[in-house]
Amino acid sequence: MERLLSPPRLMIVSDLDHTMVDHHDPENLSLLRFNSLWENAYRHDSLLVFSTGRSPTLYKELRKEKPLLTPDITIMSVGTEITYGNSMAPDHGWVETLNNKWDIGIVKEETSKFSELKLQAESEQRPHKVSFYVDKSKAQDVTKELSQRLEKRGLDVKIIYSGGMDLDILPQGAGKGQALAYLLKKLKTEGKLPVNTLACGDSGNDAELFSIPDVYGVMVSNAQEELLKWHAENAKDNPKVIHAKERCASGIIEAIGHFKLGPNLSPRDVSDFLECKADNVNPGHEVVKFFLFYERWRRGEVENCEAYTASLKASCHPGGVFVHPSGAEKPLRDTIDELSKYHGDKQGKKFRVWADQVLATDTNPGTWIVKLDKWEQIGDERLCCTTTVKFTAKEGEGLVWEHVQQTWSKDSMVKDDSAWII
Ligand SMILES: [Mg+2]
Repeated sequence: MERLLSPPRLMIVSDLDHTMVDHHDPENLSLLRFNSLWENAYRHDSLLVFSTGRSPTLYKELRKEKPLLTPDITIMSVGTEITYGNSMAPDHGWVETLNNKWDIGIVKEETSKFSELKLQAESEQRPHKVSFYVDKSKAQDVTKELSQRLEKRGLDVKIIYSGGMDLDILPQGAGKGQALAYLLKKLKTEGKLPVNTLACGDSGNDAELFSIPDVYGVMVSNAQEELLKWHAENAKDNPKVIHAKERCASGIIEAIGHFKLGPNLSPRDVSDFLECKADNVNPGHEVVKFFLFYERWRRGEVENCEAYTASLKASCHPGGVFVHPSGAEKPLRDTIDELSKYHGDKQGKKFRVWADQVLATDTNPGTWIVKLDKWEQIGDERLCCTTTVKFTAKEGEGLVWEHVQQTWSKDSMVKDDSAWII
């Protein structure tokens, strides 16, 4: 969050499963649409927050399976853990808050007396969340009896039963809604209260997100019955909460447009973006557009026409150099020439490219450095390169690519780097 010196223009707080991530979309198209919109128009001055019931272990598994962006803030384990940045540094203030009238030893001791409760996997047991499976027919009685016993022992807890099988015990002050309220308060104290906040969800435990004052909300089209019922009973007349017509991440884009929170045209919805030169003074856009073009080129979705390569070459400095992650260097213009060999080589194959954490800085007047993580999905393999692009901007001539350098990210397991083109 330190990178933002002023209040974020937009903060998106989104659930993951069946909201940001569509498990019925094997191509992940709606997520990829959202990704390019976010990196193109919001990353530099806005905040992305994921709020999930998943524990850190299961959250990391999802990130390996799906092309998720790196959020600025991650709220996990049903609002009991808040972490920041790539390093996922924990929020100690939130830990302190949750310690109030909470003692995990007592929770474990009391729950062990219930034979109906079956402890979930070790990875799901967290400092402020104890999770069990319990049969639907027993859930109500167990919950009632357990809350009385814990209250007698001086604890103040919240017992959440969801999905017809999961029983979570959390401190009373925990939950997705309270975690968001805490975050907004903290941002306000730092003078960084977002101009707009949009909460996005699909199920019962997301309802809390929509109860926070001054927050816009979107229930994606595929929202579960329990959330729609909550909405009908509690928030029907609140114009700040909508039920989108579109599924998952596309529903989030729809809400950005509906509430007029900023640009809502994903670069993936633009078919001929090399022709649209109107906003090319933004070096971040240039990079997002280039890698999207590169994906379409190799998928054979754009025509193999010389005008494209000529236009790309014209925007590269004649002395510009590309440093391949293997360390090999070659002129940028030669790299563009080589692209023609690869036109359509991924046609009909699983091949996607996306940019994550695109950040541009203007070091000297007229010179920009753009850093990003560039991801490629090739079949079932995923590779990531940390990419640095140096641009110069000349009056009336737009941006010129001066230098591109890539290094393998530590997340990539690279067996053969000759398949990596740019
Ligand atoms: Mg969900």
